[in-house]
Amino acid sequence: MNMRAARYHGPGKPLSLESVAVRPPAYGEVLVRVKAAGICHTDLHFLNGVLNLGISPLTLGHEIAGEVAELGEGSVGVTVDDRVLVSYYATCGRCHWCRTDRANLCPQVVAEYGFTADGGYAEYVVVPAANLVRIPAVLDLAEAATLGCSVTTAIHAAGTIARVRLGETVVVYGAGGVGFGLIQYCKLAGARVIAVTRSAARRAKAAELGADVVLDGTRSVAEEVRAQTRGEGADVVFELAGVRATMGEAINALRRRGRLVFVGYSADQLVVSPLQLVIGEITVTAAVGNTLEELLQAVDLAAAGRIRAVVDRRVALEELPATLEALQRGEIVGRAVVVFP
Ligand SMILES: [Zn+2]
Ligand SMILES: [Zn+2]
Repeated sequence: MNMRAARYHGPGKPLSLESVAVRPPAYGEVLVRVKAAGICHTDLHFLNGVLNLGISPLTLGHEIAGEVAELGEGSVGVTVDDRVLVSYYATCGRCHWCRTDRANLCPQVVAEYGFTADGGYAEYVVVPAANLVRIPAVLDLAEAATLGCSVTTAIHAAGTIARVRLGETVVVYGAGGVGFGLIQYCKLAGARVIAVTRSAARRAKAAELGADVVLDGTRSVAEEVRAQTRGEGADVVFELAGVRATMGEAINALRRRGRLVFVGYSADQLVVSPLQLVIGEITVTAAVGNTLEELLQAVDLAAAGRIRAVVDRRVALEELPATLEALQRGEIVGRAVVVFP
């Protein structure tokens, strides 16, 4: 059997729509009929080469929701036609990191779907049954798909890494899919949220999702954050852009004992005086990916209506290259999702 897939052929080359063979599920694996695949900013990093894992050709797409089409031998926990969300890390399960609830750091990852193994920009994907999470009936598949990276990564950054606490002031610097997840999660955690973005449409969405203060990223963010915090600065700044212009503002927006958490990145260098870190006892830290536990939490919060996935538009696989260009131009508010009939 063959299927349509959008294939990546290395940095600087556009994705190409191809017909490729569907791999039958091996022991413990499941064939999933993809119904929705969220388009993450990371895909742009593959295309422009900022992230180059050296593996191609490859089907990208790591926010995947669909239906179980076929069970491989020995796959347990799901049945055919189950609506499922894919956790995109297939980790070793045996190393120090896997055994201490930090599987996102597993150095012996077996596969990362949409990163090192074929992902969701195709009609089918093959993943271990252990990587599937059932999607509650109240959740739409396109919305559920985007939880996989955006909201779940937000939970990892705010809950696990920054440990945002009641009464803290946090800055969400950049409002894409992860940023919108952070705004909502930090509000649930009892924080005061300042969202920063250059886009008027994203500022409106940030306010709608509960941000207490919404700032225009084209102004001096550090100054404005200080003005909003009686000169103190923020307890936590989530850096979602990771470019020179934002990194400087982010560190200057912090309060003493403040935590700067990198979620976004670019090829730019962070330049900071150690003196500034020392006198403020500033922590610079980072969050990468998420764990299955955090994915389960994201699904529960979304099913309970406490966190909303922000789906900007639903597009066909054929529209993926043009939609990636729209994402690059900053036209997408939240997530665009590839959907399959
Ligand atoms: Zn992602
Ligand atoms: Zn491991």
